[in-house]
Amino acid sequence: MLPESFLNELKYNTDIEQVIGRYVQLRRRGKNLTGLCPFHSEKTPSFTVYPDTQSFYCFGCGAGGDAITFMKKIENLDYMEAVRALAERAGMAVPEGAVDDGSRRMKARILELNRAAARHFHQNLMSDMGRGARKYLVDRGLTKATVIRFGIGYAPESWDDLRNHLREKGFTDEEMTAAALVNPGRKSGCYDAFRNRVIFPIIDLRGGVIAFGGRNLSDQGPKYLNSGDTPVFKKSRNLFALNFAKDTKRPELILCEGYMDVVSVHQGGFDNAVATLGTALTPEQARLISNYTDTVVLSYDSDGPGQTATRRAISIFEETGVKVRVLSIPDAKDPDEFLKKFGPERFALLLEGSSGAMDFEVEKLRKKYDTDTPEGRVSFLQDFVRLLAGLSSPIQREVYLSKVCRELEVDKQAVSNQLESAIRRRKAGQDKRDARELRPFTARQASARTDLEKQKYPRFVLAEERLIAYLIRSPGAWDWVSQEVSPEQFISPRDREIYEAVAGRLSQGLTADMMSLSGELTEENLARLSEILASPGCGNISAREAEDYIGTLKSFYTQKTSEEVGNMEAEDFGRYIASIAAKKK
Ligand SMILES: [Zn+2]
Repeated sequence: MLPESFLNELKYNTDIEQVIGRYVQLRRRGKNLTGLCPFHSEKTPSFTVYPDTQSFYCFGCGAGGDAITFMKKIENLDYMEAVRALAERAGMAVPEGAVDDGSRRMKARILELNRAAARHFHQNLMSDMGRGARKYLVDRGLTKATVIRFGIGYAPESWDDLRNHLREKGFTDEEMTAAALVNPGRKSGCYDAFRNRVIFPIIDLRGGVIAFGGRNLSDQGPKYLNSGDTPVFKKSRNLFALNFAKDTKRPELILCEGYMDVVSVHQGGFDNAVATLGTALTPEQARLISNYTDTVVLSYDSDGPGQTATRRAISIFEETGVKVRVLSIPDAKDPDEFLKKFGPERFALLLEGSSGAMDFEVEKLRKKYDTDTPEGRVSFLQDFVRLLAGLSSPIQREVYLSKVCRELEVDKQAVSNQLESAIRRRKAGQDKRDARELRPFTARQASARTDLEKQKYPRFVLAEERLIAYLIRSPGAWDWVSQEVSPEQFISPRDREIYEAVAGRLSQGLTADMMSLSGELTEENLARLSEILASPGCGNISAREAEDYIGTLKSFYTQKTSEEVGNMEAEDFGRYIASIAAKKK
């Protein structure tokens, strides 16, 4: 546990508005601030920061909490790491020995181990045993400077080359397994995960080696192999070469398909190329990219899978507001080949001329159907209308509609009518999808339990909420409130847990605000608490009103019709019986 004095000092030195402001563009609205939620995709802000309670709450996805919770979520940290990050910002030292920092130590150890492994792989490549791998890289046109800049290495055809080296350096099998550099053997011991591969270290924005990608040099096994997720690496949240590309002077980022593409594009003088790590683009990665640029150029292969990936990426970026252009590469299968054939100047022209996402889609459709025949035209138009309906800008829709109708010499009004109904259909479907997708958080799922109680006993759950909010804002009232109401009288289990935590602190004479509760409540309960504090009626509650709410809670087991009692669930009924028994005493 952290000493109370430290927490108080941290609270004093931490302003949630500033902490969140570094990640989210916040706009003042009255005494609060709003912005686009960093935890789910949205176009209108439902994410709100409340300076008076030092909390945040998203009405879209239900994420909520204090500054510590925010840091945990956005930087993927555990509680102590988040505290440490905030303390560092405030220029405070975290008290030694106050915490169990086992996981922090493990992460530091894995980073150390990865660095040692990267150095070893690189030395392998530069030594005699790396001759074959070097030849492969030279054949692919990479210079020595590029190999050194990216720290490219080589894992030989061996079961224990890396393992032996790391053991000599004092690392254990457990640590190597945690770093995903060895796999557990069938009988005993471990063996190297990367064998006979050219190795690309993956570096995070702070310069740490967090994972590796390996290109196979033989025909056996998968062409590319990537580290699995480890305590320091989440595949879905990182990008290859973003550590270089984040400092580019160029206006856009280029998203390539693989390591080799990125490396050759960089060598060609374009330091703005990145790649996903052996998986399709994820929404997290798209958001990460949106932190650094507002335009991304997709440069995937021109084969079938590459085109599918392009289409997928377009729709993911559409959500983040990043403008998408698609690089179509003539006379070459990928940027790597194009650069080699035609050089960087031509590539720059290609980049400038890369068409918008919509042009790309229309072009695809034109190729799919034979628009010279009536049937082909009808099929084309059907798909085209569906495509247009997906555009959010009416002007854009109008531009493409006119253009295509002119080219195909079809009646624009007829197509326009079809478009209108396609938009309506899409909207209806979208509303249903939104309702489903707006619950990506466990906080939401967990609060479903409260929602249920809320439906059954709205008046009572409201009283609970108000009472909790009252105590948080007027802790001085604890003396009399504690005489009047006990946690057992709370109806929703979630609210009871929150009330217990608040009561626990207040009865010891400690403060009970968001940050001090952050170490005690689960993430779900913390989100529920910020939801309570964010609800309109919880801002200014008088002692008089608090008394009324207590009265309401007390009446839960007395003012019941026989029908209500009949409808009670076992747990509630048990408490009802107990409360009647208690009253008789
Ligand atoms: Zn949200």
